[in-house]
Amino acid sequence: LGPGTYPLRAKERHFGAHNYAPLPVVFHRGQGVWLWDVEGRRYLDMMSAYSAVSFGHAHPRLLRALNDQAQRLALTSRAYSNDRLPLLLERLSGLFGYDRVLPVNTGLEAVETALKAARKWAYKIKGVAGEKAEIIACEGNFHGRSITIVGMSSEAQYRDGFGPFPAGFKRVPYGDTAALEAAITPDTAAFLVEAIQGEGGIIVPPAGYLARCAEICRRHNVLLIVDEIQTGLGRTGRLLACDHDGVHPDGLILGKALGGGLLPVSAFLADAAVMDVFHPGDHGSTFGGNPLSAAVALEVLDLLEETRPWERAARLGERLMKKLSEAHLPCIRAVRGRGLLIGVELDPAVLHASTAAELLLAHGIATKDTHHTVIRFAPPLVITEAELDHAADVVIDTLGAA
Ligand code: PLP
Repeated sequence: LGPGTYPLRAKERHFGAHNYAPLPVVFHRGQGVWLWDVEGRRYLDMMSAYSAVSFGHAHPRLLRALNDQAQRLALTSRAYSNDRLPLLLERLSGLFGYDRVLPVNTGLEAVETALKAARKWAYKIKGVAGEKAEIIACEGNFHGRSITIVGMSSEAQYRDGFGPFPAGFKRVPYGDTAALEAAITPDTAAFLVEAIQGEGGIIVPPAGYLARCAEICRRHNVLLIVDEIQTGLGRTGRLLACDHDGVHPDGLILGKALGGGLLPVSAFLADAAVMDVFHPGDHGSTFGGNPLSAAVALEVLDLLEETRPWERAARLGERLMKKLSEAHLPCIRAVRGRGLLIGVELDPAVLHASTAAELLLAHGIATKDTHHTVIRFAPPLVITEAELDHAADVVIDTLGAA
């Protein structure tokens, strides 16, 4: 570690909680798809802050929206209306086809919002008896880190030491529609699912999975809620990953890239039949829907519609997956993904994913292992073909030599 890096790493380790094990780099600046560390070394960002930086670092239009709004008005709380949020709500409603939008900050808040909406819908609309509502989630899910959400997790480490967990949740294997149908009871409020399991290892479900889930949920009067926090807004080669299956879920959860890589902006979207279970005082947050976030998210939506980054994601994602597969490296067991959400499953007998991430970092590629054996590649969607080819060459050379 260089002289600029070491003291900062030591301070972080000494004064910070040890809930992360960051790779050995200290970033100082970002521009587009590039990051620079405090030693002046440059890295290609193949991670995008877990898919949140889809438009690249320091996008001039997003910075302008942020700066202009910050100078005018940043926060009033929702005790009042502000002149940005209504415009964002209208745009999200129109773009994704839902009557109503509930804006929050982080992804887990949007997931909690969806869970609360689903339970209240079950009691007030579906007619489930008090305290009986059930929500079905998937094995291998990742929806955030609150106690309720880790209570839904099948990952022992996420749960260990944090119980007791709220009742009313069960899990079915991801990709298994027969198991979903078998798990549904008259008390089932909702099925919560990721369109692709991101943190679970970039697991792409069988073709048509979401469409069959939608059909099963509709038949049983169960809400289908899709968490597109990681997969949404162009990442997988369509505006939403649900679009690959032609599915319009009852509830949609967005986050990450909605904040343009500048701010946490997330939202739960649903039609009035679900969302109108919320009344004043039922739910909220000090920062949710603030005008600063709304202004940035509005600019994100403008960029999305003008630049259609999903088209590039589809084309470049195919290209990267093909290059990585055709390299036939002994350490690679599988290459999978959709658009620019790609997982490379490594053979741990040959190369550990965490070692691979460190080697790639040393060669100027920033990425991160997930789920012990998988390296993820999720660059900003603005990456060029030449930059992507450079990444592929470095990855193939580095992993091939390991
Ligand atoms: N849902 C999914 C699918 C995610 O990938 C994540 C974060 O990785 C979350 C929810 C949680 O979002 P946040 O970290 O903003 O709370």
